[in-house]
Amino acid sequence: MPAAQPLLPVEQALAQLLAMADAAPIREREQIALAQGSGRVLADDLIATLDLPPWPNSAMDGYALRRDDWQGKPLRVSQRIFAGAVPEALEPGTCSRIFTGAPMPDGADCVEMQENARIEDDERVSFNQTLTVGQNIRPQGQETRIGDRLLAAGSRLGAIELGLLASMGHASIDVVRRPRVAVLSTGDELVEPGQPLGPGQIYNSNRQVLCSALSGLGCEVVDAGILPDDLQQTRQRLAALGDVDLILSTGGVSVGEADFLGIALREEGQLALWKLAIKPGKPLTFGHFRGAPVIGLPGNPASTLVTFTLLARPYLLRRLGVRDVAPLRFQVPAGFAWPRAGTRREYLRGRIEQGRAVIYPNQSSGVLLSAAWAHGLVEIGEGCTVDEGDLVTFISFSELF
Ligand code: AMP
Ligand code: MG
Repeated sequence: MPAAQPLLPVEQALAQLLAMADAAPIREREQIALAQGSGRVLADDLIATLDLPPWPNSAMDGYALRRDDWQGKPLRVSQRIFAGAVPEALEPGTCSRIFTGAPMPDGADCVEMQENARIEDDERVSFNQTLTVGQNIRPQGQETRIGDRLLAAGSRLGAIELGLLASMGHASIDVVRRPRVAVLSTGDELVEPGQPLGPGQIYNSNRQVLCSALSGLGCEVVDAGILPDDLQQTRQRLAALGDVDLILSTGGVSVGEADFLGIALREEGQLALWKLAIKPGKPLTFGHFRGAPVIGLPGNPASTLVTFTLLARPYLLRRLGVRDVAPLRFQVPAGFAWPRAGTRREYLRGRIEQGRAVIYPNQSSGVLLSAAWAHGLVEIGEGCTVDEGDLVTFISFSELF
């Protein structure tokens, strides 16, 4: 028997994938309307072209005045300033009625909120508390100053980043063009939903998971359908895919199975077959077919999910120029015990209940339901055990799927 291939730590596999992504960046860009920006990647730094706030304004509904004008004698209200108005300079010895977001009148140096003001019979106003210069004023430029870098090129755009672009007055933006990703599902047993199921057949669920996740990453998905376990057809179907930035396939990479994808890639000269030190998701293929990068994920639904999260997604994001590609990890106390240390790093489907991570009872890699139940993945290091209450690392699905 040949010596078993040593298992590759997932960090090393990721580092290799990211190096290849850095060597093949997608540089083409396009201009799109802000409303179309969700999930896309910013092509240029966003530099502030406005001070925010553009002028000092009131943080409260209340009264604007010069602090030294308040000497305990009621002050006349000389103007009313609503948000959107252009105020007159403050008449000395008076105060202005002012509302949240309205510009401060010249000459005023503080705002007292209306709850601390008393309107006297003659409609003059008295104040109950000591006033300080600057109180309840949002100074010009407290959030941003013209020239500040607000977002770096390579930032992923979500609701908040799009809001920031809007706050600078951008109606359209330059983003990196969508990567074209072909999704291939390999397996003689697979049938698309909507078709009748024959003996020995199962529905193709990975395609749906990947297509949805890729759309969320701003990819243009080329649905390449189901690929039978057959070398001739594998070659033909790969050749027919045309111009894509990535071919993402599932299945056919398990030990003992005839790996037609691997054979077809080897014929084209570029192939790496990795045995990753993770569970689920040990086997992974990386190669090129006529210049197009190919990532072959294992077919078990939970394995597909884990390897997509840890490797394929970061690889794709890096192709788009995103720096921060690893999924967000945070520590939570375990609400379970994991008494038997494994030789591979485990990614358990878990959820957060009362501030603790608990795990799905069936962690088989074939069980997609475990992931549907879960809020994310509990990462347990190789050789580690966990007692209830120990801190464990959690990767949330909410950012990913
Ligand atoms: P494979 O990696 O091809 O050996 O597949 C491993 C397991 O995952 C087998 O039980 C397959 O039937 C199942 N599987 C492979 N591809 C899919 C898919 N696209 N959807 C659902 N299950 C799949
Ligand atoms: Mg298969």
